[in-house]
Amino acid sequence: MSAYFSEKYKSLTPYTPGEQPKDTVYVKLNTNESPYPPSDRAIAAAAEAAGKLNLYPDPECFALTSKLAEILGVDREEVLLTNGSDEILNFAFMAYCDESHPAVFPDITYGFYKVFAQINNIPYETVPLKDDFSIDVTDYIGINKTVFIANPNAPTGLALTRDEIEQIVKSNPDNVVVIDEAYIDFGGESAVPLIKKYDNLLVTQTFSKSRSMAGARLGFGVGCKELIRDLNTIKYSTNPYNINMMTMAAGLGMLEDEDVTRARCAEIRETRAYTLCELRRLGFEGADSETNFVFVRHPKLDGSTYYAKLRENGILVRHFDTERLREYNRITIGTKEQMEKFIQVTEKILEEAL
Ligand code: PMP
Repeated sequence: MSAYFSEKYKSLTPYTPGEQPKDTVYVKLNTNESPYPPSDRAIAAAAEAAGKLNLYPDPECFALTSKLAEILGVDREEVLLTNGSDEILNFAFMAYCDESHPAVFPDITYGFYKVFAQINNIPYETVPLKDDFSIDVTDYIGINKTVFIANPNAPTGLALTRDEIEQIVKSNPDNVVVIDEAYIDFGGESAVPLIKKYDNLLVTQTFSKSRSMAGARLGFGVGCKELIRDLNTIKYSTNPYNINMMTMAAGLGMLEDEDVTRARCAEIRETRAYTLCELRRLGFEGADSETNFVFVRHPKLDGSTYYAKLRENGILVRHFDTERLREYNRITIGTKEQMEKFIQVTEKILEEAL
């Protein structure tokens, strides 16, 4: 830390992203990326846009926003594209939380919420998940704080129903409820249709998972026009050109290939079922997942040992070294071939360890 670093940031603990190894020898199952590249159309569109990089990108993201709104069945003014969904989540913390609207979220969830609260100097509270890692909806009924819920949740992979989300939104009319649907294309019910009924609901999604664009940084929020206007005020006060031209073009290309996205999501769901079935055969425990990862433990194999052994064998997964999560590992669903290799390696590790 330099002598010049502002007092207000000195105690900040930044978010720790999953490892991005510099070589390609690993089977990378640690950051919930898609194992598939963007569609050919998206790649070609990004390449074409590269030729116009001397110009600023369209700050309104007009074409992309229009197409996305059409797919979501909402108005263009009800959508805001951002630099990954991380950016819109940060905007939501900035726009809707303060001393009289503290943030609240589960104790086990996306690790960035805590960091967004800290950097924006927002008071926050966490609510413990139940023993089975599910969210107790009653904890959030009438809680009267700005609620952040990842649905499906990470790293648990469990989802609330749309009815449960509606109960939370309805019972907190004086606060915004943010539903982070980063993984919604792999399972669960989206809350997007509810934005027509509730002016305090903001739903965020991302192109990073189901749409194979983690490297391009594209996410979005959906909410009533007034909420989107608030978030635009934050955007135009920080970085009006938050989406670069190549990302915008690639995003539009992916949206023109929705059938590709749907087919890949179906494939991931199928491979997820295969992976969980094989892991359970080998004695692992873990709930059914609604996401592109599974969250499992083995009663006879320590979580950090399993993580380290997988790594020695060229497979990266995500291990969280906290009290309630230590026994578990979060494993991203890759291609069928990658998961077959992962299962083979796991079998070998178990043979050696038990
Ligand atoms: N929400 C959740 C629950 C996530 O797991 C992630 C990705 N790590 C994000 C939001 C942010 O994703 P991105 O910024 O790539 O859209």
